[in-house]
Amino acid sequence: MKHQGLGPITAIANQKGGVGKTTTSINLAASLAALEKRVLLIDLDPQGNSTSGLGVNQNTVRSGTYDVLMGDAQLSDAIIATDCERLLLLPASMDLAGAEIELVSELGRELRLEQAFAAYKGEAFDYVFIDCPPALSLLTVNALSASDHVMVTLQTEFYAMEGLTQLMDSIRRIKQALNSSLTMEGILLTMVDGRNRLSTQVEEDVRAYFGSQVYANTIPRNVRLSEAPSFGVPVMYHDVRSKGAQAYLVVAQEFMHRREIQ
Ligand code: ADP
Ligand code: MG
Repeated sequence: MKHQGLGPITAIANQKGGVGKTTTSINLAASLAALEKRVLLIDLDPQGNSTSGLGVNQNTVRSGTYDVLMGDAQLSDAIIATDCERLLLLPASMDLAGAEIELVSELGRELRLEQAFAAYKGEAFDYVFIDCPPALSLLTVNALSASDHVMVTLQTEFYAMEGLTQLMDSIRRIKQALNSSLTMEGILLTMVDGRNRLSTQVEEDVRAYFGSQVYANTIPRNVRLSEAPSFGVPVMYHDVRSKGAQAYLVVAQEFMHRREIQ
């Protein structure tokens, strides 16, 4: 573990947008919190969907990920509580969009998050997640440099595998240059539609290629999952009996199990 004082850190990444990173960040984190774990979710996407999805208005965020990256706030001071017990959030403030540009001229720009984690003095979490932006940008590089593992979410559609090679290459390069202990946590298939032949075919292909790196359980396409953010709550607080809520609870258990055996 890179940061004993903070906890094991998993970046949820894929440079493609709309593949379920944010939905997984919110609902996996909330499921683990419901399973009695203390969890921190870090919103590293300037769009702030993890922040708003947890009922926090981005306009009201005083210090968030941006301030922590710029060294203007301590991580422990910027973490806030959410309506979900045991789930804490480092919110994305509006100015995170500018961080990418501002960071370019900074020294050690790839390791700003890593430094903030190293300086952290506060309670340790059972699990820390970072919701990454949909790009292999400096923000994502910061996330991967500061994490123990990376979880990739993959939507089961025709172009699912495209871009994955590029992502794996980036992970390899970051491992070589910036974070030798970074490991692949797993690949989670999202928006799976069992009645759709293409979805089933993509799932088979991904499993054939990546084997046990792929989560045994998958997340089905479920309208409750797309509705929940508009209520500012994880899906289990919107409709706990929905297929989406149940699927994330099962994946949370698989996540814990994988962490134990790895
Ligand atoms: P990303 O963070 O990778 O851009 P999101 O998690 O925001 O992706 O998902 C993209 C869109 O798809 C969102 O509108 C979200 O609500 C919806 N969505 C994500 N997962 C599911 C799912 N399993 N079933 C139905 N809709 C989903
Ligand atoms: Mg997102």
